[in-house]
Formats: sequence, C-alpha cells, structure tokens
Amino acid sequence: MTIQNNYSFSPIGVIHSPYKQKFAIPRQPGLVTAAHGKLELLLEQNQLELVRDIEQHSHLWLIFVFHGTSEQGWKPLVKAPRLGGNKKTGVLATRSTFRPNPIGMSAVQLNGMCKINNNIALEISGLDLLDGTPILDIKPYIPYSDRVEEALSVMAPTPENTNYCINFSLTAQQHLNLLAANYQDLKLFIQQVLSQDPRPAYKKANTELQEYGMSLYDLNIRWQIHHNQCTVLSIEKLNL
Ligand code: SAM
Repeated sequence: MTIQNNYSFSPIGVIHSPYKQKFAIPRQPGLVTAAHGKLELLLEQNQLELVRDIEQHSHLWLIFVFHGTSEQGWKPLVKAPRLGGNKKTGVLATRSTFRPNPIGMSAVQLNGMCKINNNIALEISGLDLLDGTPILDIKPYIPYSDRVEEALSVMAPTPENTNYCINFSLTAQQHLNLLAANYQDLKLFIQQVLSQDPRPAYKKANTELQEYGMSLYDLNIRWQIHHNQCTVLSIEKLNL
C-alpha cells in the first residue's frame, strides 16, 4: 500500500487564552471550568456560514498544534507525570505534548460568539490551551458516541486534586476587589488553577514554605504553600 506522506495543514483559528505560559495550565480540559478564552477564526470564507448552527452543541472538540513545544522533538518513551515522573511509558500511551505529530485535542464548553479583529470568535471555557495555540479543526462533541461510560484508565483514573486549603491574604483580597469587574470569575479561576497544584512534581513533597508566581491574563499572581495551606499573596497587573 502506498501512503501519501506530505499532508500539510494550516490553522483555521487561534486561541486567545488567559494562560500566557505553560506553567499552571491544567493537564486536561474541563478541570478549570472558570478558564474563559476565545477561539478567533482565521479562514477567509464566510465565517458566519462556517459556524452556522454550532450553538446547537454545548461542547466542541478542538484539534490543535502544540506550538509552544513542537520544536523540541519527541522520543518513543516519556516520563508520564501521573506515574511520579520516574517510570517511562510509550508516548502513544500518554497525552504528552512531545509527540510524533505535535497535535492535541481538547473538549471545551461553547458559551457564545463575539468578534475579534472583525473575525468571528467562539467564546469557550474549560480550556487547557496556551495563548496563541493554532487550531487545525473544530468538531462538535457528540455525547452519545464520544462519552464512553465503561471507559477506564488505570494510569489516570481520576483528576489529581490537592487536599490543601486555598485562601487569600488581605492584600490579595483587596487586589481582587479592584480587579474583579474586569475579569470573569477571577477568584474562582485562581482557586481552580491552584487546586490543580501547578508545582513541579519534585517540589510537591516539600513541606517548607515555598513562594511561586504565575501569569493569568495580564496578571502576576504570587502565592505560597506551607504544609497544606496555600495562600494567594498578591494579584497585580504585569508590566507588558
Ligand atoms: N487535552 C490535550 C490533549 O490531550 O491532547 C492537551 C493535554 S496536554 C497534557 C496539556 C498540557 O499541554 C498543558 O498543561 C500545557 O502545559 C500544554 N499546552 C497547552 N497548550 C500548548 C501549546 N499550544 N503548546 C505547547 N504546550 C501546550
């Protein structure tokens, strides 16, 4: 059998995401439901026709390029974070970003439509995508066939949630009060991101006081973890 081996794809859209860096992006979609983003269409065809009736679907599959890591290549075996980061697993048995073809897929919620740069944009939530992610295709999520009730994953049976308590310092609460009107679900978003424990695996066992920073939207969020207490220290605008 001869297989054509020179396919080429161009992005049909681009993601506008609150996640400006890889650090703190959840491992899968739907874990941080308060993550709100937009998918701007780039196709020059009649965009209203392209998305006609799309609102009949509550969720969409996004097929995208891992553009932030695609230059780094791939290996047949990867260290899956779910296995403690030590054991090696076949790349095709994981959702690793370092793949033979650096393509990802995420199911996200569709909330509405708006315009960006005169293009139609889909308002989505629950995304796990870096800002600027190129979108190759959009397909409706069809529950009767995409949801597999009896499916099992021994490697990743449940989401990895932390058991630490998340609170906001007085300063962070004051920052939130000032910013809340301009950022949808900001407090819930920060809480949900932190409840995924974005720290690198090797730091998680550490019970010493540790301080971290992460960027969400154009905000720099500082937080610390001490034993099972996670405290947001400040939420300030980045100097972009
Ligand atoms: N749901 C997708 C899948 O299964 O194909 C992605 C899963 S992958 C484990 C999720 C991680 O990909 C995120 O935590 C983030 O670090 C990374 N990521 C998201 N968008 C990316 C991009 N455009 N380029 C590189 N890495 C990205």
